[in-house]
Amino acid sequence: MTDLVPTTCMRCAVGCGHVQQAPDRGYGLGSVRGDPSHPVNRGLACQRGVSETADPDGEWLTRPLVRKGGELVPTTIESALERAAEGLGTALEDSGSDSVAVLGSGQQTNEAAYALGKLARGGFGTRYYDANTTLCMASAVTAYYDAFGSDAPPPTYDDIPEAETHVVWGANPSAAHPVMFRWIRQSADDDDSELIVVDPVHSETAEVADHHVPLEPGGDLALARAVLARVIETDRVDEAFVDEATVGFDELRDDLPDAAEAAEMAGVSMADVDHLTDALEDPTLLYWGMGINQSVNGTAAAGALIDLCLATGNLRPGSGPFSLTGQANSMGTRVCSSKGSWPGHRPFADPDHRRAVAETWDVPVSRFPDDPGPGPVGIVDAIGDDVEAVYAVATNPVAGMPDTTRVREKLEHAFLVVQDAFRSETVEYADVVLPAATWGESEGTTTNMERTVSRVRAATETPSGVRTDLALIGDLADRIVPDLFDETPEPESVFDEFAALTAGTPADLSGISYDRLEAERAVRWPAPAPDVSAGYRYYEAGDAGDERTTTDDAPADESWSFYTESGRARFSTGEARALPEPTDESYPFTLTTARRPDAYNTGVRTREDEPPTARVSPATAAAIADDLEAPADGHMSDEADEGDEGRQYGRVVSRRASVTVCVETDDAIPDGVVWLPIHHPDVNDLTLPDVDPRSNEPNFKQCAVRLEPPREQDVRAVAEASA
Ligand code: SF4
Repeated sequence: MTDLVPTTCMRCAVGCGHVQQAPDRGYGLGSVRGDPSHPVNRGLACQRGVSETADPDGEWLTRPLVRKGGELVPTTIESALERAAEGLGTALEDSGSDSVAVLGSGQQTNEAAYALGKLARGGFGTRYYDANTTLCMASAVTAYYDAFGSDAPPPTYDDIPEAETHVVWGANPSAAHPVMFRWIRQSADDDDSELIVVDPVHSETAEVADHHVPLEPGGDLALARAVLARVIETDRVDEAFVDEATVGFDELRDDLPDAAEAAEMAGVSMADVDHLTDALEDPTLLYWGMGINQSVNGTAAAGALIDLCLATGNLRPGSGPFSLTGQANSMGTRVCSSKGSWPGHRPFADPDHRRAVAETWDVPVSRFPDDPGPGPVGIVDAIGDDVEAVYAVATNPVAGMPDTTRVREKLEHAFLVVQDAFRSETVEYADVVLPAATWGESEGTTTNMERTVSRVRAATETPSGVRTDLALIGDLADRIVPDLFDETPEPESVFDEFAALTAGTPADLSGISYDRLEAERAVRWPAPAPDVSAGYRYYEAGDAGDERTTTDDAPADESWSFYTESGRARFSTGEARALPEPTDESYPFTLTTARRPDAYNTGVRTREDEPPTARVSPATAAAIADDLEAPADGHMSDEADEGDEGRQYGRVVSRRASVTVCVETDDAIPDGVVWLPIHHPDVNDLTLPDVDPRSNEPNFKQCAVRLEPPREQDVRAVAEASA
């Protein structure tokens, strides 16, 4: 038997500790299960995390590939690296720093993400660098900076049992974060506790909630403002907290809409508005997810949720705003990757911080770009203009970006290096493919959504030709910008360099080391010293207080401090923009996309040949039934229909593309909405590339579509794929 190796699940940002074991022979993982000694999850794990780690469905990349005569053909790792370095290096030499774009990921270790940022900003000097974390968390990040002057949620998992109200807004943690949702449910099951779900869809989370508030897609900001107006009208403002610890409340109050009008805009009854208003009086954790962030109003809506916490004094242990992060290391990427800020959340434009980073990296500060760039959609826009070559690491833009037809067209015009563990859709557009190690094969650290850092470990070796992300980044750096890394970058020394660079910053990890993680298993930042691990942020209970107090028995000497100029939290000023693509006669339905419980991200590890399932309400199904059934070829042929009885096929059509789907009737979906899973590579052909102007996060959640009968050739293709 091989050894049990403790590690951290890299499937979602709950950050459960796993133990994994190599098989007795060969590569891969023999077994994976929850780690009872890990302080985050104490042995709990979900089926998806275990199965996608131990036995993923995707096609593993085991050999480097280069494009020859239009085909990807196997080569040696040295040849692949030479070709990649030549393509990227030529662009840099001929056309300057901004000619190379770098796309990173929330699924890399901290060490790989840090090294990639160092290469992109300090080696290439490009402004065209971002990560797929901007596609999901950027609006929450911007709202945190607006409110607190610093990123990351104030609460931690320790606050979940202390809360009495749990509001889950635009998120489905039952499907996306199963272990965390178990804690939320346990707490909400206590006497006098409650789980309220705000979501247009009656999701798996809403199914078990005490109260579901269905709202119109995109009605989040209006509803949050309606609730705030009622908080004020019903004298539920925590005046003492607002006076002592915040700025901007009077300006916000003066601008608030009438509660009834705002509720009507959101499509929500005043009874539901008052239910939320009442519930916020108790210690409340307000969780939100992609339903809020992935919108042109994402920053404004996330800010409005934070406003609700500020106005009601829900910024103490057992309460507060808590964004739910999707990808396993989205939080770490935000701290270490030099994407929107320098390591430790150092402000990008600040000359002193730029100098400090440049000195650590031993590069001229003049090499750094002036601004952090236009976000992933803007980077795609720049291909064929500024950008000539792209280096994509552990990300799948051809499936994960909005309006993917355009992404494909753009990538065809770039020299593309793809570094991945699996044969994703983006690999098919690559000029060079660098096969990378995956979770059971890599050493490093990851940071979960509540700021806890823990080790990722290798239980098995990689096939020859496959290297870790960190090693490949070092290999490319060696060939293009020698001396950027002193030697072959090793995970521990890279972590030490990164952690030292965070000393004295709001995201201080300088008290964390591999030795400490070995001893304690997991440490939450800010951790400015080897004996400090953070809890609730911005809050001090004072000498008389108990750390685990609630609003009702708050200590008299509690205090708050924030990283804003005034030292106080700021209420937001965000205003609603119209949805970029409202429904009309030609496109009468709203498309929304969301997670399935058994898959993650672009579904590379859970590939199915089936077309995606579009869920619609019975009324919507009835309205389109005649259209879908009209042509004889709207159903599978007898041959293909075998074992597949009653399955109805159709086509979801947006202004950008059309996608063949299975149509399923489901009471959980509101009338007029078409629901599709995010995990299918076809789905983002339909979605909109409009972005939130503050965060650059795309408006994935609402676009206008219609449903049509499937074309005969689509049905045939589905039949052939299923045969
Ligand atoms: S909840 Fe997330 S981190 Fe935990 S086992 Fe499941 S996928 Fe992994």
